[in-house]
Amino acid sequence: MNTQLEDIVSLAKRRGFIFQGSEVYGGLAGTWDYGPLGVTLKRNIINLWWRIFVESRDDMYGVDAAILMNPKVWQASGHVDTFTDPLVECSECKGRFRADKIDTSKCPTCGKAGTFGEPRQFNMMFKTNVGPVEDENSVAYLRPETAQGIFTNYKNIVDTLYPDLPFGVAQVGKAFRNEISPRDFIFRSREFEQMEIEYFVHPDKWQESFDALLADIHAILESLGLPKDKIHELDVPENDRAHYSKRTIDIEFDFPIGREELLGLAYRTDFDLSNIQRVSGKNIEYTVKGTNEKFIPHVIEPSFGVERMVMAVLSSAYREDEINGEKRIYLALPEHLAPVKYAVSPLLKNKPELVAKAREVYECLKKKHRAVMWDDNGNIGKRYRRQDEIGTPYCVVIDFDSFEDDTVTVRNRDTTQQTRTSITDLLS
Ligand code: ATP
Repeated sequence: MNTQLEDIVSLAKRRGFIFQGSEVYGGLAGTWDYGPLGVTLKRNIINLWWRIFVESRDDMYGVDAAILMNPKVWQASGHVDTFTDPLVECSECKGRFRADKIDTSKCPTCGKAGTFGEPRQFNMMFKTNVGPVEDENSVAYLRPETAQGIFTNYKNIVDTLYPDLPFGVAQVGKAFRNEISPRDFIFRSREFEQMEIEYFVHPDKWQESFDALLADIHAILESLGLPKDKIHELDVPENDRAHYSKRTIDIEFDFPIGREELLGLAYRTDFDLSNIQRVSGKNIEYTVKGTNEKFIPHVIEPSFGVERMVMAVLSSAYREDEINGEKRIYLALPEHLAPVKYAVSPLLKNKPELVAKAREVYECLKKKHRAVMWDDNGNIGKRYRRQDEIGTPYCVVIDFDSFEDDTVTVRNRDTTQQTRTSITDLLS
């Protein structure tokens, strides 16, 4: 179906997935807060990623580096000089835009033609000062990517664990970019989260690791329930790639806002490690065990944005249908991502014996699945509507028959079918 962005934004707010950042004070552009259901959905996505890319493999190591880093990191990496977007300002309404994202012949806000001058390069890193003195020497940046926290720890990992090549280092964490025009809900935020891997390889063997990681990326996108026909590989042509990259594939996704970048996979050669060696003066070479072969490893980088994953998952799961002539909205989330797996309720909340029995079932299910919600608000129809919008796969209702034969009604979110199931089967 053709999902509109407004449908996703409105459901996310209505049901407590995602709110505008600082909403009570009128908001802060480009920031978003995750509510009770959103935080669980986001964690489920991150945990799945970590399980697949780190925990279930022998060749991956995790790090969690500080967000504030020595400014030399961003000088060596090129961010201080080149992490820029072209900015144009309208001389009429003073609106500021990214020159490469609009038609600059006419201002998109005031509609006046010919109001833009030449673009100037705007650095997207947020600056701050470390310590009590605010001067040139105390400048630090909020990291615009998690990758550099991996590169700066590369030597620590080799010195402590000495893994055989190829091996990867993974990190999940916040990144900050002072985007000129944050837009499209969480798609382009000023504060967001990344899940990144730097996979270190022998320079002659980059291609096989690149291909293997590309296959792993497709596998995780499938586990996230993203439809194959909405996923596209864009082999980025040489003149659009960073100068150090020998190959980059952007994975694009058909979002409600159109086809846009979901994540990237880049072969970054030895650019980052060589820069660290040059600027720090420390030897970064890797020595192959039992030999004298030494070189600076090359790197393959899969770089995922958590917000874009959340948006892809929400927009693929969003469904509308009609039940008994009434419009229904539901989220067909894969069970392992759903923030609530089971909602449990008594048929009537003013019958203490029903409530007590339902509580018993609830406690047992909660012990087993944790993500179980007690829901006795409104009538059963309203509870189903609410749970459908949250994406809860199963609603369990305890009624008077439950006393007769120890069964409950289990209602399936996608089919709306209700089946009688024995409590023993439900809990086994
Ligand atoms: P774009 O071209 O859309 O600005 P990018 O090429 O600058 O993205 P990268 O620097 O490759 O992005 O960052 C890696 C990933 O981080 C992106 O694929 C995306 O998922 C995520 N990302 C980057 N910028 C943002 C942002 N402003 N808000 C949310 N996610 C982002």
